Amino acid sequence: MDVRRSLPAVDTLLAHPSVQAARQRHGHCLTRRAVRETLDETRNHLAGADTAPPGIETLAELARSRVAELARPASRAVFNLTGTVIHTNLGRSTLAEAAIAAMADAARHPTALEYDLEDGGRGDRDRLVENLLCELTGAEAATVVNNNAGAVLLALGALGTGREALISRGELIEIGGAFRMPDIMQAAGCRLREVGATNRTHPRDFENAIGEHTGLVVKAHTSNYAITGFTASVPEAQLAEIAHAHGLPLLVDLGSGALADFTALGLPYEAQPNDAIAAGADVVTFSGDKLLGGPQAGIIVGRREAITTIKRHPLKRALRLDKLTLAALEATLRLYRDSDAPERDIPTLALLTRSEQEIAATGERLLPHFQQLLPEFSVKLAACQSQLGSGSLPVDRLPSRALVWRSQTGQRRQRERALRRLEAALRQLPRPVIGRIGDGALHLDLRCLTGEAEIAVFIGQLEQLPRLYGAAPSGDRP
Ligand SMILES: *Cc1c(COP(=O)(O)O)cnc(C)c1O
Repeated sequence: MDVRRSLPAVDTLLAHPSVQAARQRHGHCLTRRAVRETLDETRNHLAGADTAPPGIETLAELARSRVAELARPASRAVFNLTGTVIHTNLGRSTLAEAAIAAMADAARHPTALEYDLEDGGRGDRDRLVENLLCELTGAEAATVVNNNAGAVLLALGALGTGREALISRGELIEIGGAFRMPDIMQAAGCRLREVGATNRTHPRDFENAIGEHTGLVVKAHTSNYAITGFTASVPEAQLAEIAHAHGLPLLVDLGSGALADFTALGLPYEAQPNDAIAAGADVVTFSGDKLLGGPQAGIIVGRREAITTIKRHPLKRALRLDKLTLAALEATLRLYRDSDAPERDIPTLALLTRSEQEIAATGERLLPHFQQLLPEFSVKLAACQSQLGSGSLPVDRLPSRALVWRSQTGQRRQRERALRRLEAALRQLPRPVIGRIGDGALHLDLRCLTGEAEIAVFIGQLEQLPRLYGAAPSGDRP
């Protein structure tokens, strides 16, 4: 007799109490699909083998976990314990409550997005944030697009297509995820003209390079590296002077761009758009979701004439922001203007300015929960250094505390394997915990931990996982 025939019918498995419980939660459609897939898979598995088919209890459990997996959204909240605060792969900034509320409101209702409530005519969507941006940066005009890469592409396209863009050899930046200044210039139809040397560029290098084909002068913030030693670069004010003497605009790509000076709160100094504007830059671009702590956006501020040219370019329409992002951006910018303590209300700033003592106290509270959890690992609270991330201040570090898990026994290879399994197990939790492996240990930097009680619950679930160390857990197939 073919053992595959002894598998239960779809409806029989569907009627099992634990499958019914899953159906209550996830609906008939998805549960039925999971049951079918479970049976199909089991049938394929049994083909040709003469092992006994699994019992109904096992099948029900397989179906139940399959429904849960099918229902689990791909976009999921995680704990960012990597030690990188503005982590591009983990979505950069989380939003202020005011921004979340504004976004939900805009999602739920029609909004006056491009509608002038004064005269009932058509309006411009940039108007929602333009005045705020001008107030905060001292610029004459502003516009916003999808991200800073888009902002640079658009500004170059609008101001320099068919002409030369001058930039120092020390600033031909590559930002993660294929943003390379030379490629962006090419895509925008500009001819890149490198000026000076990698470590030193002087005013005369720009003077000598300017000619009849020059379209604009570009300065890019060296976000993710530092050139140190025997170096020279041309300050923005001097660069603006040179450009303007030849009737050319100066574009400054700031990358992160802080909207306030938080050095008093212990943060390193980050270049601000208003510095560049005050220095005479015609166009300044920066990201909405880096140090600013808002939604993903590319912000362009500067002189009215240049911004008007940029707004008229067809790419502006292609890169425009949607109403949700605009609502979140407006709310975030309002906090910079109106809040007594933006560093409290804007999560990115709150995480960056969290005191070492507070992080240490969190660690002390959490440590006992985990100490007994996995006997094969020792866990300690140790000093560590967080980084800002996303091209803000590449060399600066913030003192922090990490839970450090180290494998206790076995040989080096075994210990490394155990560590990787622990790291993988943390990633499989209902709310994945993302840490960092280094120096033979797993580090969970607590600077960005919000939801202390939750993480204790989640990590407590590790206990239910198969033993992580030594033999492969049962259920693992070779
Ligand atoms: C981050 C960065 C960009 C790209 O900005 P996105 O918002 O990620 O598109 C461009 N230039 C610099 C200098 C940056 O730091």
